[in-house]
Amino acid sequence: MFLLSCRLLLKTTIKSQRRCYSQQPELASKRYNLTRGNYASIRGSDINFFQSILGQTRVFTEECDVDGHNLDWYKAVKGSGKLLLKPKTAEEVSAILTYCNDTKLAVTPQGGNTGVSGGAIPVFDEIILSTSQMNKIISFDEISGVLVCEAGCILDTLNEYLMEKNFIMPLDLGSKGSCNIGGNVSTNAGGLRVIRYGSLHGTVLGVEAVLANGTIMDCLSLMKKDNTGYDLKHLLIGSEGTLGVVTKVAIQCPVKPKSVQLALFGISNFSGVLETFKQAKQNLGEILSACEYMDQTAIESVVRNLNIRNPIGDFPFYMIIETSGSNEQHDEEKLNTFLEKIMADGVVQDGTVASDYTQIRSIWELRERIIEAQLLDGFVYLSDFSVPVNSFDRFVHDVQNQVGDSGTVTGFGHLGDSNIHLHVISKEYTPELLSKIEPFVYEWTSKKRGSVSAEHGLGFKKKDYLSYSKSESVIDLMRNVKSIFDPNHILNPYKVLPDKK
Ligand SMILES: Cc1cc2nc3c(=O)[nH]c(=O)nc-3n(C[C@H](O)[C@H](O)[C@H](O)COP(=O)(O)OP(=O)(O)OC[C@H]3O[C@@H](n4cnc5c(N)ncnc54)[C@H](O)[C@@H]3O)c2cc1C
Repeated sequence: MFLLSCRLLLKTTIKSQRRCYSQQPELASKRYNLTRGNYASIRGSDINFFQSILGQTRVFTEECDVDGHNLDWYKAVKGSGKLLLKPKTAEEVSAILTYCNDTKLAVTPQGGNTGVSGGAIPVFDEIILSTSQMNKIISFDEISGVLVCEAGCILDTLNEYLMEKNFIMPLDLGSKGSCNIGGNVSTNAGGLRVIRYGSLHGTVLGVEAVLANGTIMDCLSLMKKDNTGYDLKHLLIGSEGTLGVVTKVAIQCPVKPKSVQLALFGISNFSGVLETFKQAKQNLGEILSACEYMDQTAIESVVRNLNIRNPIGDFPFYMIIETSGSNEQHDEEKLNTFLEKIMADGVVQDGTVASDYTQIRSIWELRERIIEAQLLDGFVYLSDFSVPVNSFDRFVHDVQNQVGDSGTVTGFGHLGDSNIHLHVISKEYTPELLSKIEPFVYEWTSKKRGSVSAEHGLGFKKKDYLSYSKSESVIDLMRNVKSIFDPNHILNPYKVLPDKK
């Protein structure tokens, strides 16, 4: 049954939540069998130098201050960093990196530490360089919609700021309450709105970054068009802290939609999911702003573990379709035509269209809190792939056959972008189960010419699987780029690029 439709302004502000574990994960270096590189160790004289730049209050060496920065959001990997620095300006970052480059001290840049590939935590004793105090909004132009801000601004804070001015950020992630724009740019974060506004390679107009030798790379263009030589900012987007520390970002922001509508569908077979997606594109066109899919296992864990109500009962598959536009009547007409079509054709078995703000929020919670819910069932082996949409369900079944009864496999994600999050859940982490999952999932993806990381990046968890998505000659070119930007390899070592055999 379809409930009333409404035209509330959608504001999904589901904050990411930190979980408490009595059990600490083992060290990342041990779990992933990594060997410390030939870097200097931190000495008292180094601490004195950093204090001379940042003062006493932004240099942290106490375990209680550093420990949280050694653990990732999922508490799945742990590093052994001993020193945390919190610069406030690009000049301070430059002074830190110049010194680290000269003395061969390794550095791990860190934003909100919500990354899921292990990129933001130090593997050994790398210095943690947090951008959390670089959090100023520098300018916003209401004519062009261009926002310029420092790297440590929290995504949700930027969105709140823009909403006041009738604009929004072009990206929206479940971690928006904690992740930073510098981290978003450095991971080329995707999220819910890529289908509408494209990736950060399109919306980020300019980047200021500090390179390993302390050079401040000023590519902070405010213009959409700029064909003056190689566009180096694109190398920084998605480089996961291995090429430079992003200090400022200029980003193109869309106008806040006047009407937003959200529909949740229950669908009995996967071909219905594909047909709904096709019809959504054909009937909703330019107002389609999110197209998410979840399987029954994913939704069931949210309902069971977080006590969130599923308004439409049990189905093998669910979809969330969001529309946003500038004309309520026009958008509603389009949505109704779409709903009539998919109901009449029997593509969708049940659904609801959100009728008030609370309802809209709780529908988004069903999607955005899946990971949080799954973590309450034990250990989650996370993966994030680009594969053709018509193979999503096959992928989940094949991985379930592969792992047998040692884990439960579930699929959900950004269907509109061919991006599936395929999670295997088991009571605890075991290397045996991991070896059943990997490299099986990467081989599977490679056969489809997909990507082994659609939006989460490689960090150290996936770097050894890069060759499933990129040829050796391309990886060699990447190594050359790394050596130009960071000849001493002090920036985020052990991440992104596999060791040369
Ligand atoms: C609940 C939840 C939902 C999520 N949903 C999505 C989603 O839908 N789509 C998606 O893409 N991701 C998602 N993520 C993953 C994560 O939030 C994103 O990767 C995000 O962009 C990371 O930002 P951060 O500030 O937390 O970066 P961090 O985790 O601190 O760092 C991530 C990487 O970027 C580097 N880095 C950080 N800041 C800088 C900087 N200023 N300069 C250079 N390098 C830097 C780090 O070294 C690291 O390699 C989700 C995570 C959670 C916990």
